[in-house]
Amino acid sequence: MKKIAILGSTGSIGTSTLKIIKQNQKIYDVVAIAANSNIDELEKQANIFKPKIIAVFNEKKANDLKKRLSSHLKIKVISSLDGLIEIVTLDEIDFVMMAIQGSIALKPTIEAIKAKKVIGLANKEVLVAAGDLINKLKKEHRACIIPVDSEHSAIFQCLKNENENENLKNIKRLILTASGGPFLNVEEKKLKNISLKDALTHPNFSMGAKITVDSSTMMNKGLEIIEAYHLFDVKKEDIDVIVHPEQIIHSMVEFQDSSILAQMSEPTMDIPISYALSYPKREKSMIQKFDFIKNNKFTFYEPDLNKFLCLKLAKESLKISKSMPCFMNMANEVLVKRFLKNEISWLDISKKLEKLMSFHSPKNMLDLKDILDVEEEASKKAITT
Ligand code: MG
Repeated sequence: MKKIAILGSTGSIGTSTLKIIKQNQKIYDVVAIAANSNIDELEKQANIFKPKIIAVFNEKKANDLKKRLSSHLKIKVISSLDGLIEIVTLDEIDFVMMAIQGSIALKPTIEAIKAKKVIGLANKEVLVAAGDLINKLKKEHRACIIPVDSEHSAIFQCLKNENENENLKNIKRLILTASGGPFLNVEEKKLKNISLKDALTHPNFSMGAKITVDSSTMMNKGLEIIEAYHLFDVKKEDIDVIVHPEQIIHSMVEFQDSSILAQMSEPTMDIPISYALSYPKREKSMIQKFDFIKNNKFTFYEPDLNKFLCLKLAKESLKISKSMPCFMNMANEVLVKRFLKNEISWLDISKKLEKLMSFHSPKNMLDLKDILDVEEEASKKAITT
């Protein structure tokens, strides 16, 4: 049995992971779950999966959950960031699903790498903020990171038969596909009228609020370019983005011999999640055979970088590198939070981000402290700009 820990078990990736585990109870065992504060859902999950340990980031909620769980379940409840770290470093855990959104996942991811766990990485901010450090630690501790983001899972699958040492030489380019988000066909002059409700409606996926807003600004795709750069060790200029609204092709690799491999399926996160859990094997899925006749049209467009300024800013940040992607990521996270609180408009997210980035002087980041300092600077400035 593969012993599993899920961080972010109440979010959309977390609940899908549990659904897949439930369908394969003979091979997977949930040992630990963790979430920010949704103890109603955690209580339900505890009763179904009977994990040994639960971490709740919010301390008050952790205490409430302790009172609610019946004592015969013998579940240990812990809290705060230390609780998250305790979970990922438990000896018996084989696989950590890192499905907490945002920069808070950074420290637990680092500790999971040091503990040599296999990590299913569903959080992109960690690689954007700290890709160099993560890769250095990954090498040092010979840890294994399996991407869960659908685009990166697609590329990971396309590269499976390539000799790892020759990958870099063989790849001509990576092609990330993008849905284009809910505003793909909205005229540029109407972007100023976008409401919170508009931005929280994604055409194909139901996801957390932060990533849904990031999809609407196409910052999500920008973060994914940086994520791909760190995961696959390709040159910055060899990662392209193409809008593919049908979201059947999840990404592609074009090789030096001009052969292109694409990974395709129904647009559902269940497939990349299942692949990460079962890697290097594949487990049977409940999804119907793909209907090519019903899905007989695949279209592709160039992304509009004037309309989706965030995507342009993310590309620029990777070109500049050093602390710029980290700074941009945190500033964006804060601006999205402010948009979700109705403090700023949808267009303000990109405009303010552009301004903030223009004042940031990129510096080298050598360790976790440097990264946290840059995040703090970005956070402070983004709150007041
Ligand atoms: Mg994605």
